[in-house]
Amino acid sequence: MTAQFKYCEACRKAPVAIVNGCDSVEYPYKLCQACNNRLESESLRPIEWYNLACIHGPWGDNLGPYLEDGSPDNPESGLTRAEIVANSAPTLANVKLHAEALLEFTISRFSISQDLRQAWCALSPEEVLRTVTDHFAINRQPTPRECCLKVIAATQGARGAAFVRYCWGEFPALSALALAEASAACLPEQEAFDRCIATIHASKGAEKRESIRVLEYLRSPLVLDWIEREIFEPITEIWGEIAAPNSFDWTRAEAWLRSGRPLSLVAIDALGRMAANESSLTNSPRLAARPGRRRLVDVLSAYAKADPVPRVQHRVALLITMAEPYLFDPDRTD
Ligand SMILES: [Zn+2]
Repeated sequence: MTAQFKYCEACRKAPVAIVNGCDSVEYPYKLCQACNNRLESESLRPIEWYNLACIHGPWGDNLGPYLEDGSPDNPESGLTRAEIVANSAPTLANVKLHAEALLEFTISRFSISQDLRQAWCALSPEEVLRTVTDHFAINRQPTPRECCLKVIAATQGARGAAFVRYCWGEFPALSALALAEASAACLPEQEAFDRCIATIHASKGAEKRESIRVLEYLRSPLVLDWIEREIFEPITEIWGEIAAPNSFDWTRAEAWLRSGRPLSLVAIDALGRMAANESSLTNSPRLAARPGRRRLVDVLSAYAKADPVPRVQHRVALLITMAEPYLFDPDRTD
């Protein structure tokens, strides 16, 4: 990759004339004069935007005003339709059979879509691991590297364990969230849990309340046991959001509701997350071992009576309204 970029990173034809550190001093764009002018005027051609996003990721300030196919999202770009068509960026269909090209494509995306995930899973896992490992060694930027971790998480399972352990050596340059997602997919449950917990313990001050989000990926009851032991202020909705996808079931919910604060507040937030059926994760969390409707309403109502503050009253009322079909089993009569 280094030798390749004696040529402009955008057009990949003209020699580098400008080292543009507008977005990152550490990893500047290396451009010819013409591409630098187009970058500054938000009028890169689709293939030029794509080539830059393949190397740096799509998040840079100067790469923002473009659509995912690389065409400018700016009517004043000056590019004609014909110019856009003649300089189009590759599509998934163009790259999906070649791991290296697919990885570049993936780095240029804002997220991994279902189609993209399927394309990765159709390739040989050995080839994917080799391609990602090679790319990771060459491109040291955090965004592309975190994309590599996502690909490993989606394709490798236990085969990716050695790679993920190596990547933990790059923390905190690599985000704990990216490492947590790959760890949940590739490492033994206890090891993934221990590594994530260590990042929480290493966090200080305001960072600490957000640091618990690493636990959202683990899908392990170890997280629920840890919450029971270690929960700390402030008791925000984040606690419920991380409890919900970690094998949260009705037995645990009922125990937490009966125990009172703070775990009862976490329980109603976790149930709320499940009732709303919303999640940033691929699969929305579902309540296991659901009770019958009467039991659900009785337990929630008893808790609302015991903790008569507006936050609890409002959320319990909402839960009872929203319960179907996520929180109770319509076939149960209890
Ligand atoms: Zn150029």
